[in-house]
Amino acid sequence: MALTGIEIFKMLPKTNCKECGLPTCLAFAMALASGKAELDACPYVSDEVKEKLAAASAPPIRPIKLVMKEGTKAVGGETVMFRHEKTFFNPTVIAGLVTTATADAEVDKKLDQFMKLQYDRVGLLLRPEMIVVKDADGDAGKFAALAKKVVDKTDAAMLLISDKADVVKAGAEAAKDRKPVIGVATAANADAMGALAKELGLPLYAKADGYDALAELTTKLTGMGLKDLLIDSGSRQLKQAFQDQVVIRRAALVPKFRPFGFATVTFPCEMTDDPMMEKLYAAVFIAKYGGIVVLNDLSADGIFPLLLERLNIYTDPQKPMIISPGIYEIGTPGPDSPVAVTTNFALTYFIVSGEIEASKVPAWLLIQDTEGLSVMTAWAAGKFSGDSVAMFVKKCGITDKTKTRTLIIPGYAAGISGDLEEELPDWKILIGPREASHIPAMLKTL
Ligand code: SF4
Repeated sequence: MALTGIEIFKMLPKTNCKECGLPTCLAFAMALASGKAELDACPYVSDEVKEKLAAASAPPIRPIKLVMKEGTKAVGGETVMFRHEKTFFNPTVIAGLVTTATADAEVDKKLDQFMKLQYDRVGLLLRPEMIVVKDADGDAGKFAALAKKVVDKTDAAMLLISDKADVVKAGAEAAKDRKPVIGVATAANADAMGALAKELGLPLYAKADGYDALAELTTKLTGMGLKDLLIDSGSRQLKQAFQDQVVIRRAALVPKFRPFGFATVTFPCEMTDDPMMEKLYAAVFIAKYGGIVVLNDLSADGIFPLLLERLNIYTDPQKPMIISPGIYEIGTPGPDSPVAVTTNFALTYFIVSGEIEASKVPAWLLIQDTEGLSVMTAWAAGKFSGDSVAMFVKKCGITDKTKTRTLIIPGYAAGISGDLEEELPDWKILIGPREASHIPAMLKTL
């Protein structure tokens, strides 16, 4: 049962040294009890107390690190049902499936395609992160060779699946640098798989059909000393699988039902042969509450929308996506290049800068601080007014970089042009298009 703030406070050093970033130990205890602070923030907690508090303050869904060639990716660690309550922390991992029954040429094609699925968007790299290697015929040599191929050809985190412990062991040895998740542990092989995961120190994927069987299995595995589990409730029907995700998340969070306190793995690839339906199912599990979604088809036109959906769901709703205000050079602008101004909402910046880049007309792009609001919202809130834009243009230093005195403003902020002309008498104010896609045509006419 969770400890109260006062109970936690009794175990803290009570020196009020403030190193945890809070003014007193009591404040830290309260923050810890409500899940707003991490125990690691206090360097003076003894190991014994750490152990007691760690159990009480452990996140309701245990986070697990998946190891990629460079860096790690976490799943689990969520603390709320709905993102507006706080935020979701660890985006659903998107995984591709290869099996030992897949022809070599098809595997090569899939792995190459996996590595090509990388997109820069709003300053972030969007991509799938995992390859699931599945055993189809119990051949340990074949399984290990396939795991090795995935290691050599990709930078992916890995999940190795076979119901035979010796086959999994061969694959895990071939992929040992990637510290793969191994499985599948079921009621029938839990002892062998649990022992293997312990021996290799790897996370374990566990599957059982139905809630009772799943709770029984995870209880058994945690009883063996295993902490890092990924779970699968076994259903491959959309309605039931969706319900399972919701039930597992709710049970883990609300009564803190520890047997379900793990990230889930979902298998749209086993629910349909239709690539489009597979993506629709994946979209459901990204929204509610898949830790990993495993896909058979890795075509770009199906994966890209899933990456965008994931980006939207896993951004913090309390923090607007912003970029730093300032002067941005698009291309290699010179003293005669055009000057445009817009807001610091990240999406606005990336769309506008992308269109300017596409025009091949080098330009200066001024990004004004509007606290992450888009043009119309910032204008309506008085954060992108004639006064504030004029002040920004005068102070940002653009006049030292350029002889141009023509300022392009967003079409949706046409209403500020009069004020700007008054405030910036040396400048000619040009009203840009309302749609960013029309920017290249405009720039080419200047
Ligand atoms: Fe108290 Fe530890 Fe925070 Fe110092 S760092 S104020 S000892 S909780």
